Amino acid sequence: MKPAPFKYFAPTSVEEALSHLTEYGDEAKILAGGQSLVPTMNFRLAQPAVLIDLNRVEELFYIKNENSGGLKIGAMTRQQEMERSKLILEKSPLIHETMPHIAHPQIRNRGTVGGSLAHADPAAELPAVMLALNAEFRLRSQQGERKIAANEFFIDLFFTALEPEELLVEISLPSLPKRSGCAFCEIARRHGDFALVGVAAVVTLDQKSQCKQARVVLMSVGNGPIAAEQARQALIGQKPTTEAIRAAAESAAEKDIDPPGDMHASVAYRRHLARVLTEQALTEAFERAKKS
Ligand SMILES: Cc1cc2nc3c(=O)[nH]c(=O)nc-3n(C[C@H](O)[C@H](O)[C@H](O)COP(=O)(O)OP(=O)(O)OC[C@H]3O[C@@H](n4cnc5c(N)ncnc54)[C@H](O)[C@@H]3O)c2cc1C
Repeated sequence: MKPAPFKYFAPTSVEEALSHLTEYGDEAKILAGGQSLVPTMNFRLAQPAVLIDLNRVEELFYIKNENSGGLKIGAMTRQQEMERSKLILEKSPLIHETMPHIAHPQIRNRGTVGGSLAHADPAAELPAVMLALNAEFRLRSQQGERKIAANEFFIDLFFTALEPEELLVEISLPSLPKRSGCAFCEIARRHGDFALVGVAAVVTLDQKSQCKQARVVLMSVGNGPIAAEQARQALIGQKPTTEAIRAAAESAAEKDIDPPGDMHASVAYRRHLARVLTEQALTEAFERAKKS
């Protein structure tokens, strides 16, 4: 099918994009890579009256160092750019490790980091990884700008804290403390399919090699990325032994999530995957923390 008719704007600056957004509000949709929006328009599940295309807004394409040691990423940065970036490899190996799991190279060539986050698909990798990395998002409207933590941004299924007149413009990633390690694991039926379950883990060890901080985030098990709080509590202050990691994985699978069952996986199978993948991701993350 073809999309319903729409007006089209191709601004060349954020200011210009925001003036169109202010004029048309929730009648308008932002077009980033189009990899999620265009199929939904073709199926007429979305029928925006206006499309505001950000592909010529050059100021939104960047990955750069932050003075504090972290990274700043422009919302229109292509997923492929993130996958190949040396800065990402060096400063955020978790993102580097995750990128090849997102769809296929052709989709990553067009798909953007901002598009994936704003779309907020509960089976998407980047929302889970951004939550695990404690990212902060900069949102802009003609009224000004605000910063919002990843854990307040993802509200529900395909629903974020973005207001109709706001653009996601930038993602900030704090640097990780010394003796930190990360890992990402997922299971999909075929490589490139949306995952049945995925897990991002970020851990930090203290001087006694006990767990000082842990963030475990699961995807495809609820209405958005789920931070596993019980698993975190089970790990803090513990030596990362096989038993401690297994107990945390058990908490993640049994207490932290309430996964859906569908034609792709039953509830019991999703819990099983959550347990296995959490154990795997935590084991790898602690090994990396010990070596860092
Ligand atoms: C076959 C296929 C397989 C896929 N598999 C996966 C997968 O395994 N994992 C995965 O994570 N994704 C997958 N995707 C989705 C892909 O990663 C998309 O690129 C991504 O979800 C959306 O990014 P986009 O830049 O294409 O955004 P678009 O499709 O252009 O936009 C998506 C939504 O976000 C809004 N939006 C975009 N940018 C902004 C912004 N800066 N500010 C405010 N709102 C904005 C749009 O208005 C729209 O509502 C798949 C897609 C396809 C077609």
